[in-house]
Amino acid sequence: MKSYTDTYISPSQHAMELEYRYGAHNYKPMPVVIERGAGVFLWDVEGKQYFDFLSAYSAVSQGHCHPKIVNAMIGQAQTLTLTSRAFYNNRLGECEKFLCEYFGYDKVLMMNSGVEGGETALKLTRKWAYKVKGIEPGKAKTVYASGNFWGRTLAAISSSTDPSSTNDYGPFLPGYEIIPYNDLNALESLLKSDANIAGFMVEPIQGEAGVVVPEEGYLRGVRDLCTKYNVLFIADEVQTGIGRTGKRLACDWEGVKPDILVLGKALSGGTMPVSAAFADDEIMLTIAPGEHGSTYGGNPLACAVTIAALQVVIEENLAGNAEDMGRVFRARMEALQKQCSLIESVRGKGLLNAIVINDSEESGIAMDLCYKMMEKGLLCKPTHGNKIRFAPPLVISETQMDEACRIIEEVFLEMN
Ligand code: PLP
Repeated sequence: MKSYTDTYISPSQHAMELEYRYGAHNYKPMPVVIERGAGVFLWDVEGKQYFDFLSAYSAVSQGHCHPKIVNAMIGQAQTLTLTSRAFYNNRLGECEKFLCEYFGYDKVLMMNSGVEGGETALKLTRKWAYKVKGIEPGKAKTVYASGNFWGRTLAAISSSTDPSSTNDYGPFLPGYEIIPYNDLNALESLLKSDANIAGFMVEPIQGEAGVVVPEEGYLRGVRDLCTKYNVLFIADEVQTGIGRTGKRLACDWEGVKPDILVLGKALSGGTMPVSAAFADDEIMLTIAPGEHGSTYGGNPLACAVTIAALQVVIEENLAGNAEDMGRVFRARMEALQKQCSLIESVRGKGLLNAIVINDSEESGIAMDLCYKMMEKGLLCKPTHGNKIRFAPPLVISETQMDEACRIIEEVFLEMN
């Protein structure tokens, strides 16, 4: 293949050059060009096979190109894809019923990307604050935990404590308060001191921050405090939901039901953007026709895919497998830690795990380790410098997990 410099370049280099030349530079991908995926595996344009230990940030939980999801997609794509919400379609109600019954809410509002799910939750919270809680117009506040990540819109980055998300994007949305994560005292003192607080949006495990797992009892404590102070508990389960942590929802580990639940990513098994905000009637019905929506939200294609994607999670017991395989992974990595001073800690739940590298965020060692793992056929990426997230598709078998752990062990011991 010839490049514009007229020298031979590989298909991978060619694809990377094109992206670099014509695409915005808002990402810095690992230098691997994927052209095919099946289950836990990906193949690059040169035909090399890799374990996918990122799963598109937990979106491909059901494995790449799951036949049941792909077939549902093809069947619906040949029938009807989009009507907008100007008209009813014959798939939306069926999908909403399925979602509400499975997650236990009166109503659901379907959107596309995860950040739109979060934005929907925020708008619902503000409406509820004015119409039900009785906060003076324009005064409602929402609370977030430091280290949070819920996407890239201005509403989302207005709650960010990460300078690389916020630099040069101000001014930001007002009405936000930030407290430390995993700190119930900080939450209570804030809720006690400010009657204008309408909601607390929190990830049950902070994914992008580096798989930060709060102490046991945190979610129960959040639930109790939100109830006590009449504040909505909004769980952002875009990354942790749908079996990823070994339960249907990460909130299920503590048996708590959030007032608003936000899901995305794996809701469509990695095939198209589908997100959803769930709430009971007192909250959801505060939004009236014309007050919120999206052209593609709840489209028939998304509905067909969503039902199939969730059926796969249920039928294949992916939450159970995530719990079992997660235990295998952490046991292997904890044993590795004993022989490898590069590892500061191993943490996570189900198949959302991370290894924290015993060095500064700037050292670059985590990236070197990821490059070496890539060479040996396993793809993953550092998050926040010195943490490597390991989140394979939930369909991973024990033999595959064993082989993947062997690659990780080999690389860590070689670099030690
Ligand atoms: N919420 C959480 C917890 C996430 O991890 C993400 C994305 O990584 C989002 C929301 C945003 O989802 P999307 O990128 O689909 O907008």
